[in-house]
Amino acid sequence: MESSYDAIVIGTGQAGPSLAAELAAAGQQVAIVERHRFGGTCVNVGCTPTKALVASARAAYVARRAGDFGVVIDGGISVDMRRVKARKDAIVRKSTNGLENWLKGLDNCTVFEGHARFEGPHRVRVGEHELEAEQIFINVGARAYVPPLPGLDRCDYLTNSDMMDLDVVPEHLIIIGGGYIGLEFAQMYRRFGSRVTLIEMGERLIRREADDISYAVREVLEAEGIEVRLKAECLSLDRRGNSVVVSVSCEQGAPEVTGSHLLLAVGRRPNTDELGLEAADIEVNTRGHIRVDDALQTNVPGVWALGECNGRGAFTHTTYNDYEIVAANLLRGEQRRVTDRIDCYALYIDPPLGRVGMTERQVRESGQPALVATRPMTRVSRAVEKGETQGFMKILVDATTKQILGAAVLGVGGDEVVASILNVMYAKAPYTVIQRAVHIHPTVSELIPTMLADLKPLTA
Ligand SMILES: Cc1cc2nc3c(=O)[nH]c(=O)nc-3n(C[C@H](O)[C@H](O)[C@H](O)COP(=O)(O)OP(=O)(O)OC[C@H]3O[C@@H](n4cnc5c(N)ncnc54)[C@H](O)[C@@H]3O)c2cc1C
Repeated sequence: MESSYDAIVIGTGQAGPSLAAELAAAGQQVAIVERHRFGGTCVNVGCTPTKALVASARAAYVARRAGDFGVVIDGGISVDMRRVKARKDAIVRKSTNGLENWLKGLDNCTVFEGHARFEGPHRVRVGEHELEAEQIFINVGARAYVPPLPGLDRCDYLTNSDMMDLDVVPEHLIIIGGGYIGLEFAQMYRRFGSRVTLIEMGERLIRREADDISYAVREVLEAEGIEVRLKAECLSLDRRGNSVVVSVSCEQGAPEVTGSHLLLAVGRRPNTDELGLEAADIEVNTRGHIRVDDALQTNVPGVWALGECNGRGAFTHTTYNDYEIVAANLLRGEQRRVTDRIDCYALYIDPPLGRVGMTERQVRESGQPALVATRPMTRVSRAVEKGETQGFMKILVDATTKQILGAAVLGVGGDEVVASILNVMYAKAPYTVIQRAVHIHPTVSELIPTMLADLKPLTA
């Protein structure tokens, strides 16, 4: 069955639906294809469910700490994972069903459910349907990478997606991968009551962050009883009865860790290997990401790639921004670019880490003269009042222009607080704008001007 459209959108992640709706509203005939669940990773197995689980885990943590605040809870604190999962599932269902119904109700937009595969630069097959369009937008996202570890074939393992189906508290959860996803699951399940061992091949957790942040995050996790094993350069797996055995290191610590469940959180791979890109001559890089220019156009005219599949961002907000860039350029004649975007993200452990702009390491490598200031959360009155004084804030400033180069807030409210710094960076205003602003007391943000008063040269 052949059909012709003005535009085909492949994937209903964080860019596809908004783009399809905007093109359809502009009068174009649009086909949008989804092979699995509407909303993609973020809504079904990523941000939304994990943050719902983080909230349940925090409730358990706060309940256990109630005594610190003078609150008496008679009896023990326990976690009913079936109810935790049901709460998470309800939040996810609302989102994904809402999106599906919205897309299916859009004028000028036809939804196809199935796997899309290119058959030519402007031709895509979905089951028995052959779709053609001058414009094709690829928003196919990524999935968990499963590394070829020795012994993997003998063991049961979980990925971030499988974790969404767990309705028990594992006795001992072993997590391989000390990145953002691994850390969030580690703290969450420790708070649910599991013993947790976090294994990382590198020398530090969250390697892309500055050393001091990485160490502070490790302290936060270890303070809650998470066992962290670094430099696990000799990883291999085995099965013993119902247990999984991970051989960790040839040099340090116990050579093996035995657990009840294993989560692999070692990275993501783009869903571009199943898309028939070769039939359209669309280029990918060595990691399988679709090559795009600054306006997200692939090497084939009329074909764009948005979101995680283009390797230019690995977050919901970067994917959504890809949609904004493409829509603005195509429909409103603007000239928006990916490189205008400032890096920003959060790590949703508790307390969270909010990050914007360059890391200290990147600033040092750039060689530009810079100023730096830090402030521990123990010297932030709001954090003291809340009884949450772990972490610290840091800001880096260009010594010449006085513009902010980057910041990190590891501490209570860090994911929100850092946005105030991000906005000043987008305004390209000097740091003195924040320094002279009057902030609300008592907030974490009110100490940013105080921290800025302490700027010192970033020395070698
Ligand atoms: C555990 C976890 C936690 C996360 N937490 C956060 C967070 O807190 N904040 C944040 O910003 N980001 C977070 N992320 C990252 C975020 O979820 C992703 O960056 C974002 O969802 C990527 O969106 P996307 O639209 O590029 O791809 P996706 O959301 O993956 O969407 C791609 C869609 O395309 C469909 N598809 C793929 N191939 C085909 C095909 N051939 N035919 C038809 N359909 C196809 C897929 O089924 C999917 O629905 C998290 C990720 C994970 C795994």
